[in-house]
Amino acid sequence: MCCLEKGVQTIEALSHRLSSYLEPSQINLVKRAYFYAEQAHDGQKRRSGEAYITHPLAVADILAGMHMDHQSLMAAMLHDVIEDTGISKKAIAGQFGDSVADLVDGVSKLTQIEFESHAEKQAENFQKMALAMANDLRVILVKLADRLHNMRTLGAMPPDKKRRIAKETLEIYAPIAHRLGMNEVRLELEDRSFYCMYPLRATRLQAALKTARGNRKELVEQIQASFEKRLLKESINAIVIGREKHLFSIYEKMRLKKKFFKEIMDVYAFRIIVDTVDTCYRVLGVVHNLYKPVAGEFKDYIAIPKANGYQSLHTVLVGMHGVPIEVQIRTKEMDEMANSGIAAHFLYKSSSDEPINASHSRARQWVQGLLEMQKNAGNSLEFIENVKIDLFPDEVYVFTPKGKIVELPTGATPVDFAYAVHTDVGNTCVACRINERMAPLSQPLLSGQKVAIITAQGAQPNPNWLNFAVSAKARSAIRHYLKHQRHHQSVTLGKRMLSRALAEIHIDLEHMTEEQQLKLLHGAQVESMEKLSEEIGLGNKVVYSLVKFLQPDAELKVRAGTLNSAITIDSAEGMMISFARCCRPIPGDPIIGHVSSGKGLVIHQDTCRNIAEIRNYPDKVSQVNWAATVSGEFLVDVRVEVESDRGIIATLATRITEQGASIEHINVHERDAHNSVIHLCIGVHNRIHLANIMRRIRNLSFVIRVNRSKN
Ligand code: MN
Repeated sequence: MCCLEKGVQTIEALSHRLSSYLEPSQINLVKRAYFYAEQAHDGQKRRSGEAYITHPLAVADILAGMHMDHQSLMAAMLHDVIEDTGISKKAIAGQFGDSVADLVDGVSKLTQIEFESHAEKQAENFQKMALAMANDLRVILVKLADRLHNMRTLGAMPPDKKRRIAKETLEIYAPIAHRLGMNEVRLELEDRSFYCMYPLRATRLQAALKTARGNRKELVEQIQASFEKRLLKESINAIVIGREKHLFSIYEKMRLKKKFFKEIMDVYAFRIIVDTVDTCYRVLGVVHNLYKPVAGEFKDYIAIPKANGYQSLHTVLVGMHGVPIEVQIRTKEMDEMANSGIAAHFLYKSSSDEPINASHSRARQWVQGLLEMQKNAGNSLEFIENVKIDLFPDEVYVFTPKGKIVELPTGATPVDFAYAVHTDVGNTCVACRINERMAPLSQPLLSGQKVAIITAQGAQPNPNWLNFAVSAKARSAIRHYLKHQRHHQSVTLGKRMLSRALAEIHIDLEHMTEEQQLKLLHGAQVESMEKLSEEIGLGNKVVYSLVKFLQPDAELKVRAGTLNSAITIDSAEGMMISFARCCRPIPGDPIIGHVSSGKGLVIHQDTCRNIAEIRNYPDKVSQVNWAATVSGEFLVDVRVEVESDRGIIATLATRITEQGASIEHINVHERDAHNSVIHLCIGVHNRIHLANIMRRIRNLSFVIRVNRSKN
């Protein structure tokens, strides 16, 4: 197993350690945070029996090893205070400032998230969400240190809990460390998790590794000595390290690449660390001179660094007895970067003149580069695919009430969420709660929010949703539904119109003979009765010319206009019915229907001038009636002449809404300094409703005249 770092035991020891890179004032702040936490956790014990404060101290110590700044260390001291002692974020902000409080709060939030499913996709989402939620990357670093210490002290846990934590570490935290280039942390998290999850396999592999190491020892020492000797001869100051593959990576190579243990162990790997870039290239020359290089294996990541900032020279040599030797050559700084990744960017920050934010944004840039590179690599197993700027700008991660994570595009709304959960939930959603509070369906969601959708039986998607739904799934489902609804409505209307026309020639639509149906379909050149109804409903086929296929003299009756059954309109919605804008009929008005191609039935007032012409084509005109129970809101235009005055619009609007009518729009035309004309479009139930509203308007002192208008 990895080196078990013996951490500091006391705050004094830590302070001493910090004095190597922090200012005394900063160290004092860290100490203050320690004493605050010690008091807050007073009486609490870890499972191992130790005082609880040993844990935050150890976490801070891990971060000190990465030379993290004093605020991160303070956050480490306080990271379990909100969660475990009920002290508020506000209280911490009051004591230690907003930055530290934000860090502590961020870590607490990550801790609170329950790791629900073991599905790979879920783990991937969690990694992304964890990163996306942490506005400040230091939150992730503190959390990783917290997890690392918990893994180091897992011994006291019951076995099943151990395994669960280890699995979570392998699936979530180790990959995050990997993404952030924090190799050392990642390796330790992996090996420790591996031991917890598969103790038997780990022990056996460890034993095999020990044997192999013993067998290899002589050869490793020989190669290492040959390197050192030659470098010394060339007067090059260098450190040569024999690299060991760690346990979990050997296990994964065996498992995933189906390699034998021996194959993996047959490669000898070395790292040579020097002081300057120039020296790196000199060392390359030296080792190529010592052993024959394998053609095509040399890579210069110094001249062309990896996008994540990784720099090194890589080469492969053929050693004595033909053994392959992998060599990495790099400077000390490059080595630090390769081991600590993003944490390396926080190094010595406090001693530089650079403000924290500049350094932080550089770190961010670096992470971004890392993410970009993985994206370009096209490796779908990598968890970052859709990254562009600022970690994960294109995605938000929200929770279902049961804690499942739902991934949505940025700007997604509760409607998108509802459709992501299930199409039926989307189709019937009427309201929502975000973090337990009622919220509009159009409100954009933020990562980490908990969203609950309220559905109602019989509810339908609103075409208006298309104005704010952003996910492909929601948009296509809404469109599909509306299209289907339109189809359904035109079929219903067409059926009614057909049934009415057939009644004129004493044929019952429901009891037509097969022969009659075939005649009708053949004449109309459509394949089914449903299609026929749809075509009629859409106004694409004229019903009376169809009837003629069944009874050629039907024409006479139609011309005579003796239709005795009219189509009944029972609501403002449904069917393929619309209301003409020219005359805006409302229930109570005598009306007439115009069958308009593609639009279905357009309802006009009987007296509308636009319909006068059309009346000469009885084919295109349809008798319609209002149902006695007609419901809904119907738009109507009202013209109001007023004496200009302040606040009249508001007064007018109040009068109208008081009467239970809605205002669609208001237009004001000033005629002169004294008089204005206001055009209103309002939604009313019927003529009586309208008459009441107009009477109320007329009573207003500044109103001169009010009348219903026509466009
Ligand atoms: Mn903790």
